[in-house]
Amino acid sequence: MRRISILGATGSVGQSTIDLIAREPDRFDIVALTGGRNIARLAEDAKRLGAAVAVTAHDECLDDLREALTGSGVEAAAGPRALCEAAARPADWVMSAIVGAAGLEPGLAALDQGATLALANKETLVAAGPLVMNRAARAGATILPVDSEHSAAFQCLAGEDPAQVERLILTASGGAFRDWPLERLAHATPEQAATHPNWAMGQRITIDSASMFNKALEVIEAREFFGLPPDRIEVLLHPESLIHALVGHADGALMAHLGPADMRHAIGYALNWPERAELPVARLDLAEIGALTFRRPDAERYPALDLARQVMARGGLSGAIFNAAKERALDAFIACRLPFMAMADTVAAVLDRAEADAATIDAEMTLENILHADAMARHWADGYILHRTDR
Ligand code: NDP
Repeated sequence: MRRISILGATGSVGQSTIDLIAREPDRFDIVALTGGRNIARLAEDAKRLGAAVAVTAHDECLDDLREALTGSGVEAAAGPRALCEAAARPADWVMSAIVGAAGLEPGLAALDQGATLALANKETLVAAGPLVMNRAARAGATILPVDSEHSAAFQCLAGEDPAQVERLILTASGGAFRDWPLERLAHATPEQAATHPNWAMGQRITIDSASMFNKALEVIEAREFFGLPPDRIEVLLHPESLIHALVGHADGALMAHLGPADMRHAIGYALNWPERAELPVARLDLAEIGALTFRRPDAERYPALDLARQVMARGGLSGAIFNAAKERALDAFIACRLPFMAMADTVAAVLDRAEADAATIDAEMTLENILHADAMARHWADGYILHRTDR
Protein backbone atom coordinates (compact mmCIF):
# COMPACT_ATOMS: atom_id res chain seq x y z
CA MET A 1 0.00 0.00 0.00
CA ARG A 2 1.26 3.45 -0.88
CA ARG A 3 0.96 5.95 1.97
CA ILE A 4 -0.55 9.23 0.74
CA SER A 5 -1.22 12.64 2.29
CA ILE A 6 -3.07 15.51 0.61
CA LEU A 7 -2.42 19.07 1.78
CA GLY A 8 -5.25 21.30 0.56
CA ALA A 9 -7.57 18.30 0.07
CA THR A 10 -10.76 20.41 -0.02
CA GLY A 11 -9.59 22.60 -2.92
CA SER A 12 -9.75 22.17 -6.68
CA VAL A 13 -6.46 20.25 -7.03
CA GLY A 14 -7.09 18.37 -3.77
CA GLN A 15 -10.49 17.17 -4.99
CA SER A 16 -9.08 16.08 -8.36
CA THR A 17 -6.41 14.11 -6.47
CA ILE A 18 -9.06 12.45 -4.31
CA ASP A 19 -11.07 11.62 -7.42
CA LEU A 20 -8.11 9.60 -8.75
CA ILE A 21 -7.23 7.98 -5.44
CA ALA A 22 -10.81 6.98 -4.62
CA ARG A 23 -10.89 4.93 -7.85
CA GLU A 24 -8.19 2.58 -6.48
CA PRO A 25 -8.97 2.16 -2.76
CA ASP A 26 -6.82 -0.97 -2.39
CA ARG A 27 -3.71 0.76 -3.67
CA PHE A 28 -3.51 3.68 -1.23
CA ASP A 29 -3.36 4.13 2.51
CA ILE A 30 -4.43 7.69 3.41
CA VAL A 31 -2.32 9.23 6.16
CA ALA A 32 -3.47 12.87 6.36
CA LEU A 33 -5.97 15.15 4.65
CA THR A 34 -5.82 18.89 5.34
CA GLY A 35 -8.19 21.72 4.54
CA GLY A 36 -9.20 25.20 5.59
CA ARG A 37 -12.79 26.25 6.24
CA ASN A 38 -14.66 23.59 4.27
CA ILE A 39 -15.08 21.28 7.26
CA ALA A 40 -17.98 19.26 5.83
CA ARG A 41 -15.94 18.31 2.75
CA LEU A 42 -12.80 17.56 4.78
CA ALA A 43 -14.63 15.33 7.26
CA GLU A 44 -16.60 13.49 4.62
CA ASP A 45 -13.51 12.69 2.55
CA ALA A 46 -11.46 11.74 5.61
CA LYS A 47 -14.15 9.25 6.67
CA ARG A 48 -14.74 7.91 3.16
CA LEU A 49 -11.02 7.36 2.51
CA GLY A 50 -10.24 6.17 6.06
CA ALA A 51 -7.58 8.84 6.72
CA ALA A 52 -5.59 8.57 9.93
CA VAL A 53 -5.88 12.32 10.61
CA ALA A 54 -7.81 15.32 9.26
CA VAL A 55 -6.46 18.81 9.91
CA THR A 56 -8.03 22.22 9.44
CA ALA A 57 -5.73 25.24 9.13
CA HIS A 58 -7.98 27.24 11.46
CA ASP A 59 -8.03 26.69 15.24
CA GLU A 60 -11.57 28.02 15.51
CA CYS A 61 -12.82 25.25 13.20
CA LEU A 62 -11.54 22.40 15.41
CA ASP A 63 -14.78 21.83 17.35
CA ASP A 64 -16.77 21.56 14.12
CA LEU A 65 -14.23 19.13 12.68
CA ARG A 66 -14.25 16.98 15.85
CA GLU A 67 -18.03 16.86 15.80
CA ALA A 68 -18.13 15.93 12.11
CA LEU A 69 -15.65 13.11 12.74
CA THR A 70 -17.31 11.72 15.89
CA GLY A 71 -17.23 7.93 15.98
CA SER A 72 -15.23 7.63 12.76
CA GLY A 73 -11.83 6.86 14.31
CA VAL A 74 -10.26 9.70 12.27
CA GLU A 75 -8.11 11.95 14.46
CA ALA A 76 -8.86 15.71 14.29
CA ALA A 77 -6.35 18.57 14.61
CA ALA A 78 -6.14 22.29 13.81
CA GLY A 79 -3.75 25.17 13.23
CA PRO A 80 -0.61 25.85 11.19
CA ARG A 81 1.59 23.73 13.48
CA ALA A 82 -0.79 20.77 13.16
CA LEU A 83 -0.62 21.14 9.36
CA CYS A 84 3.16 20.74 9.49
CA GLU A 85 2.89 17.81 11.91
CA ALA A 86 0.46 16.10 9.56
CA ALA A 87 2.77 16.73 6.59
CA ALA A 88 5.65 15.26 8.62
CA ARG A 89 3.83 11.96 9.27
CA PRO A 90 5.60 9.21 7.32
CA ALA A 91 4.14 9.01 3.82
CA ASP A 92 5.43 7.92 0.41
CA TRP A 93 3.69 10.63 -1.63
CA VAL A 94 2.37 14.00 -0.52
CA MET A 95 0.25 16.34 -2.63
CA SER A 96 1.06 20.01 -1.92
CA ALA A 97 -2.16 21.81 -2.96
CA ILE A 98 -2.67 24.48 -0.33
CA VAL A 99 -3.14 27.87 -2.01
CA GLY A 100 -0.61 30.65 -1.39
CA ALA A 101 2.51 31.02 0.74
CA ALA A 102 0.69 29.09 3.50
CA GLY A 103 1.75 25.97 1.59
CA LEU A 104 5.48 26.54 2.08
CA GLU A 105 6.06 25.20 5.60
CA PRO A 106 3.86 22.09 5.30
CA GLY A 107 5.61 21.33 1.98
CA LEU A 108 9.01 21.60 3.63
CA ALA A 109 7.85 19.29 6.44
CA ALA A 110 6.84 16.69 3.84
CA LEU A 111 10.22 16.98 2.09
CA ASP A 112 12.14 16.69 5.36
CA GLN A 113 10.63 13.26 6.01
CA GLY A 114 11.77 12.15 2.53
CA ALA A 115 8.36 11.88 0.86
CA THR A 116 7.90 12.44 -2.85
CA LEU A 117 6.29 15.87 -3.06
CA ALA A 118 3.77 16.39 -5.85
CA LEU A 119 3.97 20.16 -6.09
CA ALA A 120 0.91 22.12 -7.20
CA ASN A 121 1.67 24.98 -4.78
CA LYS A 122 3.86 27.06 -7.10
CA GLU A 123 4.31 29.69 -4.37
CA THR A 124 6.68 27.24 -2.61
CA LEU A 125 9.31 27.53 -5.36
CA VAL A 126 8.65 31.21 -6.10
CA ALA A 127 9.24 32.22 -2.49
CA ALA A 128 11.93 29.75 -1.55
CA GLY A 129 13.24 27.84 -4.60
CA PRO A 130 16.89 27.27 -3.60
CA LEU A 131 15.97 26.52 0.03
CA VAL A 132 13.34 23.99 -1.06
CA MET A 133 15.68 22.28 -3.51
CA ASN A 134 18.41 22.03 -0.85
CA ARG A 135 16.04 20.58 1.72
CA ALA A 136 14.80 18.02 -0.82
CA ALA A 137 18.36 17.03 -1.73
CA ARG A 138 19.37 16.71 1.92
CA ALA A 139 16.42 14.41 2.69
CA GLY A 140 16.75 12.46 -0.57
CA ALA A 141 13.20 13.55 -1.44
CA THR A 142 11.82 13.88 -4.97
CA ILE A 143 9.77 16.86 -6.15
CA LEU A 144 7.40 16.24 -9.06
CA PRO A 145 5.68 19.15 -10.82
CA VAL A 146 1.89 19.21 -10.87
CA ASP A 147 1.31 22.59 -12.49
CA SER A 148 0.16 21.44 -15.94
CA GLU A 149 2.81 23.47 -17.80
CA HIS A 150 5.64 22.17 -15.63
CA SER A 151 4.37 18.61 -15.77
CA ALA A 152 4.23 18.96 -19.57
CA ALA A 153 7.80 20.31 -19.72
CA PHE A 154 8.99 17.57 -17.35
CA GLN A 155 7.48 14.97 -19.69
CA CYS A 156 9.06 16.62 -22.78
CA LEU A 157 12.42 16.58 -20.98
CA ALA A 158 12.35 12.90 -20.00
CA GLY A 159 15.65 11.36 -21.08
CA GLU A 160 16.98 14.70 -22.37
CA ASP A 161 20.00 16.67 -21.19
CA PRO A 162 18.67 19.97 -19.71
CA ALA A 163 21.95 21.64 -20.76
CA GLN A 164 20.92 21.09 -24.40
CA VAL A 165 17.62 22.93 -23.92
CA GLU A 166 17.53 26.17 -25.89
CA ARG A 167 14.15 27.34 -24.68
CA LEU A 168 11.18 26.35 -22.63
CA ILE A 169 7.85 27.78 -23.73
CA LEU A 170 5.01 27.93 -21.22
CA THR A 171 1.62 28.46 -22.78
CA ALA A 172 -1.08 30.71 -21.34
CA SER A 173 -4.77 30.91 -22.17
CA GLY A 174 -4.80 34.66 -21.57
CA GLY A 175 -7.56 34.34 -18.97
CA ALA A 176 -10.96 35.96 -18.77
CA PHE A 177 -9.98 39.33 -20.27
CA ARG A 178 -7.83 38.17 -23.16
CA ASP A 179 -10.07 39.81 -25.74
CA TRP A 180 -11.40 42.75 -23.75
CA PRO A 181 -10.51 46.27 -24.89
CA LEU A 182 -7.76 47.55 -22.57
CA GLU A 183 -9.84 50.48 -21.29
CA ARG A 184 -12.53 48.09 -19.99
CA LEU A 185 -10.03 46.38 -17.65
CA ALA A 186 -10.17 49.28 -15.20
CA HIS A 187 -13.76 48.28 -14.38
CA ALA A 188 -13.33 44.50 -14.33
CA THR A 189 -15.02 42.85 -11.32
CA PRO A 190 -13.80 39.87 -9.27
CA GLU A 191 -16.72 37.79 -10.58
CA GLN A 192 -15.74 38.51 -14.18
CA ALA A 193 -12.07 37.77 -13.49
CA ALA A 194 -12.92 34.46 -11.79
CA THR A 195 -14.33 32.96 -15.00
CA HIS A 196 -11.68 30.98 -16.86
CA PRO A 197 -12.18 30.25 -20.56
CA ASN A 198 -10.83 26.66 -20.36
CA TRP A 199 -9.89 25.43 -16.87
CA ALA A 200 -12.03 24.84 -13.76
CA MET A 201 -9.79 25.95 -10.88
CA GLY A 202 -9.90 27.70 -7.50
CA GLN A 203 -11.00 31.36 -7.42
CA ARG A 204 -7.54 32.80 -6.69
CA ILE A 205 -5.60 31.05 -9.47
CA THR A 206 -8.41 31.83 -11.91
CA ILE A 207 -8.15 35.56 -11.19
CA ASP A 208 -4.35 35.23 -11.36
CA SER A 209 -4.84 33.76 -14.85
CA ALA A 210 -6.78 36.85 -15.95
CA SER A 211 -4.00 39.14 -14.68
CA MET A 212 -1.23 36.69 -15.79
CA PHE A 213 0.20 36.77 -12.29
CA ASN A 214 -0.30 33.01 -12.45
CA LYS A 215 2.00 32.77 -15.48
CA ALA A 216 4.45 35.19 -13.86
CA LEU A 217 4.65 32.83 -10.87
CA GLU A 218 5.03 29.88 -13.24
CA VAL A 219 7.97 31.43 -15.09
CA ILE A 220 9.80 31.83 -11.77
CA GLU A 221 8.70 28.33 -10.73
CA ALA A 222 10.13 26.93 -14.00
CA ARG A 223 13.42 28.73 -13.46
CA GLU A 224 13.73 27.18 -9.99
CA PHE A 225 12.52 23.72 -10.97
CA PHE A 226 14.43 23.21 -14.22
CA GLY A 227 17.42 25.44 -13.43
CA LEU A 228 17.14 27.26 -16.77
CA PRO A 229 18.35 30.85 -17.21
CA PRO A 230 15.39 33.30 -17.34
CA ASP A 231 16.11 34.28 -20.96
CA ARG A 232 15.41 30.71 -22.05
CA ILE A 233 11.90 30.70 -20.60
CA GLU A 234 9.20 32.19 -22.81
CA VAL A 235 5.44 32.67 -22.53
CA LEU A 236 3.16 32.13 -25.50
CA LEU A 237 -0.55 32.90 -25.63
CA HIS A 238 -2.44 29.81 -26.73
CA PRO A 239 -6.20 30.34 -26.31
CA GLU A 240 -7.14 26.66 -26.77
CA SER A 241 -5.06 25.51 -23.73
CA LEU A 242 -4.29 22.15 -25.34
CA ILE A 243 -0.51 22.48 -25.65
CA HIS A 244 0.73 23.06 -22.11
CA ALA A 245 4.47 23.52 -22.74
CA LEU A 246 7.07 23.17 -25.48
CA VAL A 247 10.77 22.41 -25.15
CA GLY A 248 13.15 23.60 -27.86
CA HIS A 249 16.38 21.60 -28.22
CA ALA A 250 19.76 22.64 -29.63
CA ASP A 251 19.11 20.78 -32.88
CA GLY A 252 16.00 22.85 -33.60
CA ALA A 253 13.48 20.22 -32.52
CA LEU A 254 10.51 21.63 -30.63
CA MET A 255 8.72 19.03 -28.49
CA ALA A 256 5.17 19.88 -27.47
CA HIS A 257 2.98 18.27 -24.84
CA LEU A 258 -0.74 18.17 -25.60
CA GLY A 259 -3.51 17.10 -23.30
CA PRO A 260 -7.03 18.01 -22.23
CA ALA A 261 -7.50 20.91 -19.82
CA ASP A 262 -8.01 18.51 -16.92
CA MET A 263 -5.71 18.61 -13.90
CA ARG A 264 -6.21 14.88 -13.37
CA HIS A 265 -3.69 14.33 -16.15
CA ALA A 266 -0.80 16.13 -14.41
CA ILE A 267 -1.85 14.82 -10.99
CA GLY A 268 -2.17 11.26 -12.31
CA TYR A 269 1.22 11.51 -14.00
CA ALA A 270 2.83 12.53 -10.69
CA LEU A 271 0.90 9.84 -8.82
CA ASN A 272 2.08 7.04 -11.11
CA TRP A 273 5.54 8.37 -12.01
CA PRO A 274 7.89 6.95 -13.24
CA GLU A 275 5.23 4.80 -14.87
CA ARG A 276 2.13 5.80 -16.78
CA ALA A 277 -1.31 4.54 -15.88
CA GLU A 278 -4.65 4.76 -17.64
CA LEU A 279 -6.33 7.98 -16.53
CA PRO A 280 -10.02 9.00 -16.73
CA VAL A 281 -9.37 12.08 -18.88
CA ALA A 282 -10.80 12.92 -22.30
CA ARG A 283 -8.72 11.95 -25.35
CA LEU A 284 -8.05 14.80 -27.78
CA ASP A 285 -9.61 14.55 -31.21
CA LEU A 286 -7.27 16.77 -33.22
CA ALA A 287 -9.32 16.56 -36.42
CA GLU A 288 -12.32 17.78 -34.45
CA ILE A 289 -10.26 20.58 -32.87
CA GLY A 290 -8.96 21.58 -36.29
CA ALA A 291 -6.60 24.43 -35.46
CA LEU A 292 -4.34 25.54 -32.63
CA THR A 293 -3.48 29.23 -32.44
CA PHE A 294 -0.69 31.22 -30.80
CA ARG A 295 0.30 34.80 -30.24
CA ARG A 296 2.69 36.81 -28.12
CA PRO A 297 1.34 38.17 -24.84
CA ASP A 298 0.78 41.93 -24.77
CA ALA A 299 3.01 43.60 -22.13
CA GLU A 300 0.52 46.41 -21.53
CA ARG A 301 -2.35 44.02 -20.83
CA TYR A 302 -0.20 41.68 -18.72
CA PRO A 303 2.37 43.77 -16.75
CA ALA A 304 2.86 40.85 -14.32
CA LEU A 305 5.12 39.13 -16.84
CA ASP A 306 7.65 41.99 -16.81
CA LEU A 307 7.51 42.02 -13.01
CA ALA A 308 8.49 38.34 -12.99
CA ARG A 309 11.51 39.14 -15.19
CA GLN A 310 12.43 41.93 -12.77
CA VAL A 311 12.24 39.48 -9.85
CA MET A 312 14.43 36.88 -11.57
CA ALA A 313 17.04 39.53 -12.43
CA ARG A 314 16.95 40.92 -8.88
CA GLY A 315 17.35 37.67 -6.96
CA GLY A 316 17.69 37.69 -3.18
CA LEU A 317 14.33 37.26 -1.47
CA SER A 318 12.46 39.20 -4.16
CA GLY A 319 10.44 36.08 -5.08
CA ALA A 320 8.93 35.88 -1.59
CA ILE A 321 8.25 39.64 -1.67
CA PHE A 322 6.67 39.43 -5.13
CA ASN A 323 4.37 36.58 -4.16
CA ALA A 324 3.28 38.09 -0.84
CA ALA A 325 2.55 41.48 -2.43
CA LYS A 326 0.55 39.74 -5.14
CA GLU A 327 -1.46 37.82 -2.51
CA ARG A 328 -2.37 41.04 -0.67
CA ALA A 329 -3.25 42.84 -3.92
CA LEU A 330 -5.44 39.89 -4.90
CA ASP A 331 -7.17 39.95 -1.47
CA ALA A 332 -7.89 43.68 -2.00
CA PHE A 333 -9.20 43.12 -5.55
CA ILE A 334 -11.48 40.31 -4.36
CA ALA A 335 -12.77 42.62 -1.60
CA CYS A 336 -13.42 45.34 -4.24
CA ARG A 337 -10.87 47.63 -2.58
CA LEU A 338 -8.47 47.68 -5.56
CA PRO A 339 -9.11 47.92 -9.32
CA PHE A 340 -7.96 45.01 -11.47
CA MET A 341 -4.97 46.73 -13.11
CA ALA A 342 -3.86 48.25 -9.79
CA MET A 343 -2.81 44.78 -8.59
CA ALA A 344 0.30 45.06 -10.77
CA ASP A 345 0.88 48.66 -9.62
CA THR A 346 0.80 47.43 -6.02
CA VAL A 347 3.32 44.67 -6.64
CA ALA A 348 5.61 47.04 -8.59
CA ALA A 349 5.45 49.57 -5.74
CA VAL A 350 6.29 46.89 -3.17
CA LEU A 351 9.27 45.67 -5.21
CA ASP A 352 10.50 49.31 -5.39
CA ARG A 353 9.94 49.78 -1.66
CA ALA A 354 11.91 46.60 -0.91
CA GLU A 355 15.01 48.09 -2.56
CA ALA A 356 15.23 50.54 0.34
CA ASP A 357 15.39 47.63 2.81
CA ALA A 358 18.48 45.63 1.90
CA ALA A 359 18.37 43.82 5.25
CA THR A 360 15.11 42.22 4.09
CA ILE A 361 15.52 41.67 0.36
CA ASP A 362 19.19 40.65 0.49
CA ALA A 363 18.98 38.54 3.64
CA GLU A 364 20.28 34.97 3.50
CA MET A 365 17.66 32.53 2.21
CA THR A 366 16.56 30.92 5.47
CA LEU A 367 12.97 30.06 6.34
CA GLU A 368 12.93 32.71 9.04
CA ASN A 369 14.12 35.43 6.62
CA ILE A 370 11.65 34.35 3.95
CA LEU A 371 8.78 34.58 6.44
CA HIS A 372 10.02 38.02 7.49
CA ALA A 373 10.24 39.20 3.85
CA ASP A 374 6.76 37.83 3.23
CA ALA A 375 5.38 39.74 6.25
CA MET A 376 7.13 42.98 5.26
CA ALA A 377 5.80 42.73 1.70
CA ARG A 378 2.23 42.27 2.99
CA HIS A 379 2.69 45.31 5.24
CA TRP A 380 4.06 47.43 2.36
CA ALA A 381 1.28 46.26 0.04
CA ASP A 382 -1.41 47.13 2.62
CA GLY A 383 0.14 50.60 3.04
CA TYR A 384 0.23 51.17 -0.71
CA ILE A 385 -3.38 50.02 -1.16
CA LEU A 386 -4.57 52.26 1.69
CA HIS A 387 -2.79 55.38 0.46
CA ARG A 388 -3.23 55.05 -3.30
CA THR A 389 -3.98 58.41 -4.84
CA ASP A 390 -5.54 57.22 -8.13
CA ARG A 391 -8.94 56.36 -6.65
P1 NDP B 1 -8.32 26.18 -3.96
O1 NDP B 1 -8.57 27.55 -3.49
O2 NDP B 1 -9.36 25.48 -4.73
O3 NDP B 1 -7.94 25.25 -2.70
C1 NDP B 1 -6.99 25.66 -1.78
C2 NDP B 1 -6.83 24.66 -0.65
O4 NDP B 1 -6.01 25.25 0.37
C3 NDP B 1 -8.15 24.31 0.04
O5 NDP B 1 -8.05 23.02 0.58
C4 NDP B 1 -8.21 25.35 1.17
O6 NDP B 1 -9.07 24.97 2.22
C5 NDP B 1 -6.77 25.35 1.60
N1 NDP B 1 -6.35 26.58 2.27
C6 NDP B 1 -6.75 27.85 1.99
N2 NDP B 1 -6.11 28.72 2.80
C7 NDP B 1 -5.29 27.97 3.59
C8 NDP B 1 -4.38 28.30 4.65
N3 NDP B 1 -4.16 29.56 5.04
N4 NDP B 1 -3.70 27.29 5.25
C9 NDP B 1 -3.91 26.01 4.87
N5 NDP B 1 -4.78 25.64 3.89
C10 NDP B 1 -5.45 26.62 3.25
O7 NDP B 1 -6.94 26.23 -4.75
P2 NDP B 1 -6.49 25.37 -6.02
O8 NDP B 1 -6.72 23.92 -5.77
O9 NDP B 1 -7.01 25.99 -7.24
O10 NDP B 1 -4.91 25.65 -6.01
C11 NDP B 1 -4.06 25.09 -5.03
C12 NDP B 1 -2.62 25.33 -5.44
O11 NDP B 1 -2.37 24.62 -6.66
C13 NDP B 1 -2.29 26.79 -5.74
O12 NDP B 1 -0.97 27.05 -5.36
C14 NDP B 1 -2.43 26.90 -7.25
O13 NDP B 1 -1.64 27.93 -7.79
C15 NDP B 1 -1.94 25.54 -7.67
N6 NDP B 1 -2.47 25.06 -8.94
C16 NDP B 1 -3.82 24.91 -9.10
C17 NDP B 1 -4.35 24.46 -10.31
C18 NDP B 1 -5.81 24.24 -10.47
O14 NDP B 1 -6.22 23.68 -11.49
N7 NDP B 1 -6.65 24.60 -9.55
C19 NDP B 1 -3.46 24.18 -11.45
C20 NDP B 1 -2.06 24.31 -11.15
C21 NDP B 1 -1.59 24.74 -9.95
P3 NDP B 1 -10.68 25.35 2.25
O15 NDP B 1 -11.16 25.40 0.85
O16 NDP B 1 -11.25 24.21 3.05
O17 NDP B 1 -10.79 26.67 2.97
